[in-house]
Amino acid sequence: MSSSPQQPEQSFLPKTVVTPKARNTSKSSALHEEAVRLIPGGASSTMRWASYEPYPLFMKSGAGSKIVDADDNSYIDYLLAFGVLVNGHSHPRIVEAVQKQAMEGMMFGTAIELEVDLAKKFRQFVPSADMVVFANGGMDATSNALRIARAATGKDLILKFEGHYHGQHDYAMVSVESPPVVAGMEEYPRSLPYSAGIPSMVLDTVVVAPWNNAKALERIMKRHRNDIAAIIMEPVMANSTVIPPNVDYLKSVKEIAASNDALLIFDEVITGFRVAPGGAEQLYGVTPDLATWGKALGGGLPLAAVSGKKEYMELIAPGKVSYGGTYFANSLTLAGAKANLEVLAEHDYQALKVLKDRTDRLTTELSEVVQRTKQKACIQNVPGIFTLAFTKYSKITNYRESLLIDWEKFRMLHQLLLDQGVYLHPDNYERVALSTAHTDEDITHTVQAFEEALKRLS
Ligand code: PMP
Repeated sequence: MSSSPQQPEQSFLPKTVVTPKARNTSKSSALHEEAVRLIPGGASSTMRWASYEPYPLFMKSGAGSKIVDADDNSYIDYLLAFGVLVNGHSHPRIVEAVQKQAMEGMMFGTAIELEVDLAKKFRQFVPSADMVVFANGGMDATSNALRIARAATGKDLILKFEGHYHGQHDYAMVSVESPPVVAGMEEYPRSLPYSAGIPSMVLDTVVVAPWNNAKALERIMKRHRNDIAAIIMEPVMANSTVIPPNVDYLKSVKEIAASNDALLIFDEVITGFRVAPGGAEQLYGVTPDLATWGKALGGGLPLAAVSGKKEYMELIAPGKVSYGGTYFANSLTLAGAKANLEVLAEHDYQALKVLKDRTDRLTTELSEVVQRTKQKACIQNVPGIFTLAFTKYSKITNYRESLLIDWEKFRMLHQLLLDQGVYLHPDNYERVALSTAHTDEDITHTVQAFEEALKRLS
């Protein structure tokens, strides 16, 4: 194969297992002290500091599957910018495309040929999408998809699922991590704000249901009769540990949506361009009315998209649904994203097949490690992402079960893995992500690091 998935430089791999004492992070500590005086929390996203103890590490470079922090410690990266970097850090072909475009004009604020090229490329991955529009981030995509659904149906309410995350806009910041004491009955969850500052009027327009439970959804839809414009969901729940849908669940939700004249929106921001070329809709064979994409679509450039059936997407074109943003579909981003998708598509999507194989190998070997070290933990995966959670359950199937995992133990695991050059997010709800740049050597090192850490945790 002429252009196989990128093989990153081995020199980044820690040569020896770094002990806690040996890993100096004093520059990160000093930077954090300075950062919190200037930036609330020390970084422009809660997810970049909230779960880190005693302070987050400051990263300064990345190549392939490896990252290096301010103190020159190197790690195999399983955060991958929350799953964005499906082809690893600074893939040479993406870098080259971005450099070339930067010389030719970074953005124009006009129609551009690159946008047509990328729309064609997008449809090659997602043939069920009649049309597509681009945006910067997942929250732009989900907020616009909801607006299109409201315009299409003439209804105001939307239904989302407890524990699902769709970005930081008000309509999505409902019941993302509701504590059970206030969340209401499992089958009828309450709509709770995930942040201060969400208007109660917004909460009144967002109905919440438990995921992976078609009967409960049917009852809740019935309660609201014909008032729901759209059902939005992560087709694989991936923001409250990784939870695949039960057999035929997605099919049932599609039927329930159709029989209630509501649109079905799959939020494929995590699953898209990762679990299969056409995302979860291809993996599970269920096509929604609209879908939202982000993260791996841009491969490191800020790109998101809304796609779907022509009859709904075309509500934008005559100006019925207002759509746009100054930076939407800028040349620099599109050039990088086009190179990213070209790398993924080569040789009949070989890179995504390799990604799946590596995920299977890592999760299988980690399951063996869990058994050998006599831990009570379950591992759940779909191609390219997985969760390892300490729990008494053999399987986590919904949000309420995911609440019962041992967060503290995972945090300790995270620390022990850092000491061995393996970087995960400390919050167990965030998935562990792989890229096409992760090598067999990376996997071998990672399995050894987990074994060492889990032994110490026993
Ligand atoms: N939808 C899902 C499923 C996500 O996981 C995220 C981000 N983690 C978003 C939407 C929001 O994307 P962004 O952070 O790019 O706005």
